[in-house]
Amino acid sequence: MSDLLFSLEHVVDYPAVAALPGFEHADLDTVREVLAECADFMSEVVAPTNRDGDIIGSRRQPDGTVTTPDSFKGAYQGYVDAGWGGVPLPEEFGGGGFPRTVGLIIQEMMTSANMAFALCPLLTQGAIEALLNYGSDEQKQTYLPQMVSGEWAGTMNLTEPQAGSDVGALTTRAVPQDDGSYKITGQKIFISFGDHDLSEQIVHLVLARTPGAPEGTRGISCFIVPKRMVNDDGSLGDRNNVECLSIEEKMGIHGSPTCVMNYDDATGYLIGEENKGMRIMFVMMNSARLSVGMQGLAVGERAYQQSLAYAQERRQGLAIGATGKDSPIIDHPDVRRMLMTQKAYLAALRHLMLLNAINVDHSTNAADEAERTRADEIVGLLTPICKGFGTDLGNELTSIALQIHGGSGYVEETGVSQYYRDVRIAAIYEGTNGIQAADLVGRKLGVRMGASFTEFISSMKEIDGQLADAGDEFASIRSQLATNLGALEKATGWMLRTGMQDPNAVLSGSSPYLRMWGLCLGGWLLAKAALGGASSDEAVAEEKLVTARFYAEQLLPQAGALLGAVTAGADDLFALDAAALG
Ligand SMILES: Cc1cc2nc3c(=O)[nH]c(=O)nc-3n(C[C@H](O)[C@H](O)[C@H](O)COP(=O)(O)OP(=O)(O)OC[C@H]3O[C@@H](n4cnc5c(N)ncnc54)[C@H](O)[C@@H]3O)c2cc1C
Repeated sequence: MSDLLFSLEHVVDYPAVAALPGFEHADLDTVREVLAECADFMSEVVAPTNRDGDIIGSRRQPDGTVTTPDSFKGAYQGYVDAGWGGVPLPEEFGGGGFPRTVGLIIQEMMTSANMAFALCPLLTQGAIEALLNYGSDEQKQTYLPQMVSGEWAGTMNLTEPQAGSDVGALTTRAVPQDDGSYKITGQKIFISFGDHDLSEQIVHLVLARTPGAPEGTRGISCFIVPKRMVNDDGSLGDRNNVECLSIEEKMGIHGSPTCVMNYDDATGYLIGEENKGMRIMFVMMNSARLSVGMQGLAVGERAYQQSLAYAQERRQGLAIGATGKDSPIIDHPDVRRMLMTQKAYLAALRHLMLLNAINVDHSTNAADEAERTRADEIVGLLTPICKGFGTDLGNELTSIALQIHGGSGYVEETGVSQYYRDVRIAAIYEGTNGIQAADLVGRKLGVRMGASFTEFISSMKEIDGQLADAGDEFASIRSQLATNLGALEKATGWMLRTGMQDPNAVLSGSSPYLRMWGLCLGGWLLAKAALGGASSDEAVAEEKLVTARFYAEQLLPQAGALLGAVTAGADDLFALDAAALG
């Protein structure tokens, strides 16, 4: 919690968000109180349900209903009663009108407590944002108040067996009816919380094609398909023709039912215009991509806390210079290295997620149009990085946590393997990390012919003067940042030059390029934290400085080392034909 507040105050400039029109009531002191209360709720009410989710899991019953563990129901009701879901949503629909930044922190706390459980509110939030942006007034009035309170949940239905990363291949049909509604028919797979018993109503957002729609993503429309029909007075009526056919047995997040959903002439309502569904889904996905990136941080953080505690308790061997029979493993340098790696990456990720969220808030609420536009560009740049880098690190950091536990990590009893299994999906759903990298170089890099990226790199380089003034202790941070930002600049220049002439070469370097960005952003943000910490008390200043220095010297150099992979092109990747790879 103190790390979060430090970041808000000293790294990402939350006070500037609280000064934006509409957020005046969300000053840092108020936010501090809200988050303290939230932390209590999540640790006391939601965290104890995490193990139940893993062991009991969600189940499809013989009568076709889907049940979650009993402890989930009480926790969800508590979540609705306390109104946590509505905190960052408009007051007009019963929300608290707080910035997205605060909403993201609430999601982080809930995800640390129980990732599988938190997925339900996370998807509801995405559906709400799609409706807020594109729903008609009537749709907003019908669905939003109950979704904002959490009484009704939301889902996101894109995936079909033949349409995963290639959403444009979907075939679910939507046939217009005389009353303005549509009949939706098709099968969706892998739908998180497609059915469950946490809320009496589920508002499915479903992508489908109308008759004669163009091929690919240009012919996709987005529909609201409620699980139960809503009567004119707002009460719930009959079941719609949508059902969960089965749920998947899977590696992790057992508490989250992953459903095969069947739509059989189900009644649906078009959101926005026909064939403009991808635009709507992007609103939902951008929100969800930041939230999924945050899952890497949230689960990584819980795993870190557990491995830190374990490293202090578990005694093995005698550390160099120690006396007695044995030492806690935290005294062995290699265990320290693992803990410092977790700590530094987590701090970097936290700043990065918050920086993205802060820019979301500027993009929606800044008074000045140019400021809103630039913030929106920055969100475009940071979102695939938060998603890709955040979830890759989620995997790496939970793996390190397991390693610190030794054999006890591999057996289920300690619970640490659950974090490793749970977080694995985050690099896959909401657009695989490969798709995030393609988005970064394919769509985002081209914004203003690359100027959006190069301006951001220039703004990162401005820290050099402050680091120079900060004294010798900051010297290695300064030099490593200069070197690695230089490499990022070179990589960006190569990407821009290569761009149109050789898109396959650009795509070949896209994943290492995204990683480079993540590493550099982390180094830059930790350097800001170290500078910000210098004015705090001595212990905080030392902690921020050491973390930034460790990262700069031991983790950040990976960025420069990736330059070769970024700029290698496609030749060697395709030199062997598929048969020769065997
Ligand atoms: C637990 C779980 C929950 C999910 N929840 C939802 C949900 O709520 N709603 C929903 O709609 N979907 C959901 N999904 C589906 C998820 O979003 C997809 O699995 C994901 O988008 C990947 O699609 P795919 O599985 O078909 O893999 P594929 O698209 O077949 O990808 C396989 C591999 O090929 C790569 N690849 C594919 N195309 C390209 C390309 N053009 N360029 C580079 N690499 C490429 C991918 O990166 C990946 O490594 C969920 C999935 C799971 C497992």
